[in-house]
This record gives sequence, structure tokens and C-alpha cells, in this order.
Amino acid sequence: MPQTDSTTPLFETERAVSVLLPTAVVGPYDYLVPEEMELAPGDYVHVPLGKREMIGVVWGPAMGDVDPAKLRPVDARVEAPPMPEQVRRFVDWVSAYTLSSRGAVLRMAMRSPDALAPPKPVVVYRRSDSDDKLRLTPARQRVLTFLEDGPALSAGDLARETGVSSGVIKGLVDAGALEKIEVPPPPPFEAPDLARPGPSLSEAQENASAQLREKIAAAEFSVTLLDGVTGSGKTEVYFEAVAAALSAKRQVLVLLPEIALTPQWLSRFEERFGVAPAVWHSDLSQVQRRTNWRAVATGNARIVVGARSALFLPFAELGLVVIDEEHEPAFKQEDGVSYHGRDMAIVRAQIADAPVVLASATPSLETRVNVTRERFTSIVLPKRFGGAAMPTIKTVDMRTTDLSSNRFISDEMVTALKATLEAGEQSMLFLNRRGYAPLTLCRTCGHRVECPSCAAWLTEHRFRKRLQCHHCGYEVPTPSVCPSCENVDTLVACGPGVERIAEEVTGLLPDARIGIMTSDTMRGPESAQTFIRSVENGELDILIGTQMVAKGHHFPNLTLVGIVDADLGLAGGDLRAAERTYQVLQQVSGRAGRAERPGRVLIQTFQPEHPVMSTLVSGDRERFFELETEARQAGGWPPFGRLAAIIVSSRDSRIADDLARALARCAPSSPDIRVLGPAPAPLSLLRGQHRRRLLLKASRDVSVQSVLRGWLEQIKVPGNARIRVDIDPYSFL
Ligand code: ADP
Ligand code: ZN
Repeated sequence: MPQTDSTTPLFETERAVSVLLPTAVVGPYDYLVPEEMELAPGDYVHVPLGKREMIGVVWGPAMGDVDPAKLRPVDARVEAPPMPEQVRRFVDWVSAYTLSSRGAVLRMAMRSPDALAPPKPVVVYRRSDSDDKLRLTPARQRVLTFLEDGPALSAGDLARETGVSSGVIKGLVDAGALEKIEVPPPPPFEAPDLARPGPSLSEAQENASAQLREKIAAAEFSVTLLDGVTGSGKTEVYFEAVAAALSAKRQVLVLLPEIALTPQWLSRFEERFGVAPAVWHSDLSQVQRRTNWRAVATGNARIVVGARSALFLPFAELGLVVIDEEHEPAFKQEDGVSYHGRDMAIVRAQIADAPVVLASATPSLETRVNVTRERFTSIVLPKRFGGAAMPTIKTVDMRTTDLSSNRFISDEMVTALKATLEAGEQSMLFLNRRGYAPLTLCRTCGHRVECPSCAAWLTEHRFRKRLQCHHCGYEVPTPSVCPSCENVDTLVACGPGVERIAEEVTGLLPDARIGIMTSDTMRGPESAQTFIRSVENGELDILIGTQMVAKGHHFPNLTLVGIVDADLGLAGGDLRAAERTYQVLQQVSGRAGRAERPGRVLIQTFQPEHPVMSTLVSGDRERFFELETEARQAGGWPPFGRLAAIIVSSRDSRIADDLARALARCAPSSPDIRVLGPAPAPLSLLRGQHRRRLLLKASRDVSVQSVLRGWLEQIKVPGNARIRVDIDPYSFL
């Protein structure tokens, strides 16, 4: 992988090393090692780069492609645990696989450079040796007696422990009787309590955990799919694997889709292990980020639960990786380095020679195929924990329901909502669309209000009286005049978002207490928690939400789930549209009837005969996967073939077109490779960038990376255009 290994150095550079820097420019670069400095691979070092100084990582011996006389010296070595060899190998691997520069990948592994500095010491006081005459009051005496065999404490703690005022402490310090010392702060994370008993497991859960414990004991790379229906108790099962790995003195990483990193999950963890895990996600403050990163590096943090970026934390003793909701497309990172968190987690575990547990109620087709190919083993939990029944699922054929133009909820759904309300139970309505309406249209001239920098309509947010682009965030106050024909009050809302559904339900069931749960209404974990509490406490009758409601929550009194528009996700040319729709609907349905009272699900659809709907209704998951597998296999799509996307973008549509055509002209040709496109990307204009896409489709034995490298080498990208490569693309935007 390191391109330098194969070439003989031009220069002998004994006192030099190559240093990789966390920037997208290609590296590493050679630097001289000063006389008195000893460096080893993985050491963090300050080095000059142009006029700047940066922290980089010693990557290996010098490459010798620059005359040593021209090399600049390393400024200083950072006193910090070096980057583990496994992490460096992982950076190399991800870079080679995703065709991103190693520096860009390293940046993800150095998210918190200031974490390298030792943490600020804390000031504590102990008795000094000075035997100056001291006026002793009873309060002063208490402090001195305490410190005779007590630990050195901060002024505040000392005052609290001995019940004196802070003035007394200050007096003792001024009199020279107490001495100030600086000590490292206590480590931020307490060890999980492994003696704490877990819940008593059902027989199925016990069998499953026993199998996982065996994998931990084997202490080698393996992948196990924990395939259990929603509510089957998968979390408790993988907690047992976590406990086993922690007992074996290994570090553990649990990856969750960002949206599933809920206070509910964290409190379950605390209940099981008596302490909070280290967390890692995009909302951490600088201070938390620094503390947690360092705690992983020093080995103080034994367990981390995080979103996909946690993969790049500096684990030195990784012994288990759990990926919950492994099917979630949210694990795919689209910006910057595009990588799939689940797939890269498996690579990371392989480097650590550690077992992986994938958990899901709706495993991805990729994972299921890996089970069939016997690369992964699977453990099935077919029943809900505690004997709760699976909900009954029924479709409502929207072709035969006679709804007036501004209604979206069928009579059958209304009847069910009423009955549930009367029974004192809760309902959930699911529509994966934020805001009030996805389109604002002029009744007079037909103008559709679009985003100026994306090929997309603006979504109306009626509560906020604004139109917003869900791709770039552009917003305007909702106009009262058509921007095109300038007629007044001719703009109408088309189609529903959750806000509109809430309005409709309020009109139909004025007594129901309704709550909306979307990323607009839940700003931050706190408001989400408040909302969840109010559902748990029975303060809401009907919750209406986007995919935020689909995840993980356990509401015992929720017995009806209504899917407002099941066809929504099927539109568009996405390879995984059917699979994704199946998973989301299955997941949402899984919210119904999780306790004693049975649940039911109503699915509004215009295509009840579609395999997604018919297999959901019949509960024949295997049949759905068979059909989906056949379709992918017949088309040679992943996981039966390989796919990579090249996205060309420019502010100038002509430049984008020219570059895309130039790429097409030198496209690789071979019997096991096909190049599709160039075509306008489905979002042909995004944030002011015109986008064109080419797809490389190849059989499984083709190394798409080397094909792409050879292809892209022939192209000179003009300064006002960009080429982005996406290996295994998920989003077809
Ligand atoms: P899944 O992740 O498979 O959807 P969960 O792990 O969330 O299922 O479990 C569903 C519910 O059952 C949760 O409320 C959980 O606390 C409870 N549960 C699972 N296993 C046990 C157990 N062994 N003892 C008590 N409660 C359990
Ligand atoms: Zn936009």
C-alpha cells in the first residue's frame, strides 16, 4: 500500500523519517530527526509545513525521494501515547479502499489534536513542612488533622470535607501551613462494574449470548449476525458479549447510527454496567471530544459507544466491535472521505483480530448474502422477549379510498385511531417527510417554488412560516405573492409533510393530544428526551413523526402504527429503494404492541401488490429477501457485483458536462466492466454545483480501485471542477 515501499530511495537518509500530516494534500513527507531526538512510528510530532507548523504522525522510515540537505527537521516530539500500529494500518487501508488521500483519512483519526496535550493539572493542598508559629483555631485544627492522613484535596473539597469556610483554607495557605501542589486530574471514566448481575435472560437469549461469549473467548476475527425481530432483546444479548470482552481486559466499541444514540440506550447501558460509557458523536463539545479521545488513547475508556466516526479513535486494545442496526444507511458517510461505517468497522476488527457482532431486526442484503457465503455466522432470535406478539399488518388500498384533495388519512385509519384513543392506548403515524408540504405551487401560472442552488423544491414549514430547501438549508419567508406571475394568494401547498398530517388529525380527532417528532421539533437530545418521557408517561395520544420515531423506542402502550405513505421511498432509481422501504416499514411496525397488548399496523399504499407490501403483510421476510436477491443477482448489482460512482461537479454546467464527457471517452473497457453515464445526477444541481455522474459496474473479481486509478490518471481536472469517487455508493442523489 505505501507507494514508497516498492521504490528504492534516491538518497540515504538515516536520520530522517516520513511523517503523515492530517491534510488532504498527498503525503507523507520526509523530515530530518534532530541529534538528540528518538522517534518511532506512531509518534506524534510537530513539523513545519510551508509557513505553518502542524502535528503529524511518524509513518515510517524516510522515503528518500528528497535530498537530505533540503529536508527540514522535526520540531518536537509530542508527549502522548503514540498512534497504535493498528490505527495506522487502518488509515492506510481506508485510504487505499476509498481512493482518498491518506492525510484526509488521518484527519479523521486526529479529530482532536489538542487532546495530545496532557490534561490540565488540578490544584490540591497538602500540609506543608513549615513549622512557623501558627495561630490554631478549632476550624484550622480540623483541616490540619484531616490532612495528617487524608488525601490532598482541592480547596473546595477540603472545606466541604472538614466543614469549614473557604476563608479558613485561604488563611492556612496564606500562613504557609498548606502547600499547593499540581496533580493530574482523575481519569474521566470509571471501570464498568462487571460483577453487576445482568437481567435473567430467556433461553433463546442465553443461547445467543453463550455463542457470542465463545467468540470473545476465541479472541480472533469473526463476524456474527444477531438477527432478531424488534423487541427480541438483542441489546441485552450483546451486552453479555460486551461484558465478556471487558472481563478479558479488552476495549469495546459499539457503533450506533447517530439517531439511535439516545438517552434511552445510554441509561440501559448504565443500568447494566453501573457507569456511563464514553460517547463519540458529532454533537460533542470540544472539551468532551478532547477528554474522550484521550481516554481512549490512554486506555482509561474501556467502552465507547459512538457514531461511525468513532471507528477512527486510537484504540490500542480493541477486542470487540458491535454494530447495532447494521442495515442503517446512516452508517455511510457521504462528505469528505466516503466510507461505509459497517464495512470499515469489519476491516478495523480484522486488523485488531477481534470479533464483530452485527445486530439488526432487518439485516441488509449484503450481510445476509455474507451469511449465505459462510463468511459470517448468524444467530436468530425469532420471538419477542416476554412473549409479546408481533403486530398484525394490513394494507389500506389508497386507489379505492375516496379522499378529498386535502386529506391524506383514510377513513379506515381514522376509525383505527379513534378506537385506539377510546381504549386509552397510543398511536403513531409515520411519514418520512418533514415540514408541512413538499411543494408550493401557483394555482394561476403553475410556478413551482424551487431552491435557487439545488434542483429541488422548497418544503413549506408552516409553523415557522418559511420555505426551506432540505438539501442546502436555504430559507425564505413563505411568500404571499407568486414569485413568477405576482398574483396574490394563489400559492397552494401540495402533498403532505408531518405538520400537515398533524393538522389533519387535529381536525379529525380534536380531543387527542398530538405530538410531532422530527429533527425540526427535536433540537438536541434534551428535547427528544422530554418528548419520549411525555409519551412514556401517557401525556400524548398520537405521535406523528419521520424516521426519528422509527428507531429503538419502546413504548409499551403504543398499539397502533399507521404508515401514511408507504410508497414514498419506492420512487426514484435507488438500487436499494425496495430493501430500504421494507426495512423502514418493518422497523416502524415494530413499535406497535411491544408489551401485553397486541399491536396492529395499517399501511396506506397505492401498490398493495408490490412485493414490499405483500411480504410485510404475510410476514414472509424470507420471501422478500429471495425476490430482492434474485433481482440484484440478475442485474449483477451489489453484493453480486461491484459499484463505484464518479461525481463530477462544477459551478459551470458546461465545464461539468465537458469533464464528464472526457471521462466517458477514456472509460475502461473490458467484458467484466460497464460504465453507465454520464448522466445528470438525480440532484443535478446541489448547493450551486452542477453534478454529473458516471457509474462503474464490475464483476466481483475486478479491483475497482485499480481500474479507477488508471482511469482517473488520464484526466486533467480543471481548477473550477471537482471529481469525487464514491466506492459502494448508497445515496443516489
Ligand atoms: P431489540 O433490541 O431486539 O429490539 P431490546 O433489547 O430493546 O430488543 O428488548 C426489548 C425489551 O425487552 C426492552 O424493553 C428490554 O428491556 C426488555 N428485555 C429484553 N431482554 C430482557 C431480559 N432478559 N429481562 C428483562 N427484560 C428484557
Ligand atoms: Zn438548496
